[in-house]
Amino acid sequence: MALPDTIHLEVVTPDRQVFSGDVDAVVVPARQGYMGILPGHAPLLAELGIGEISIRAGDGTDYMFCSWGFLEVLPGRVVLLAQTAEMASDIDVKRAEEAKVRAEKMLASTDPGTDFRGAELALMQAISRLNAAHRLVRKPRP
Ligand code: ATP
Repeated sequence: MALPDTIHLEVVTPDRQVFSGDVDAVVVPARQGYMGILPGHAPLLAELGIGEISIRAGDGTDYMFCSWGFLEVLPGRVVLLAQTAEMASDIDVKRAEEAKVRAEKMLASTDPGTDFRGAELALMQAISRLNAAHRLVRKPRP
C-alpha cells in the first residue's frame, strides 16, 4: 500500500484551535525529546513537553511554541492537545523577554522558599517562545 503524501495536523489548546492543515512533516517537543513525524508514521500517544513545533508544508516551514499536553498520532492525522500553544507570529516577544528576566531573577534568588523548579520551567518556556519567534524572523523569504 502506498504511503500518504501529507499528514493532517491539528493543534488545539483548552481555549482554541491554533493550527489545522495538511503538512508534509512536523517536529514536536515530546516529553522525552524532539520527535519527527512524517506521513505514514505508526500510531502513538506521547506526552508533550516545552519547546518549538516545526511544521513543514511545501517549500515553507512554520514555527510554533507549545507546552505540556499530549500528542496523538493516528493514521493520516496528528493531534496535539497542548496546554498552551502559539504560532510564532503571535508570540509577544517583549512579554517573553520579561518572563525570561523574571525567571532568571527567581533562579538567582538566595531565598530557600523560592520555587526554583517553577522558575526553571518558566525560563524554558520563555526561551522556547523567543527561539520560535526568532526563527520566524530568520526564515528566508521565498
Ligand atoms: P507570562 O509570565 O508572560 O504570563 P507564562 O509562560 O506564565 O507567561 P502561560 O501560562 O504559558 O504564560 O500562558 C498563559 C496564556 O498567555 C496562554 O494563553 C499563552 O498562549 C499566552 N502567552 C503567554 N506568553 C505569551 C507570549 N509571550 N506571547 C503570546 N502569548 C503568550
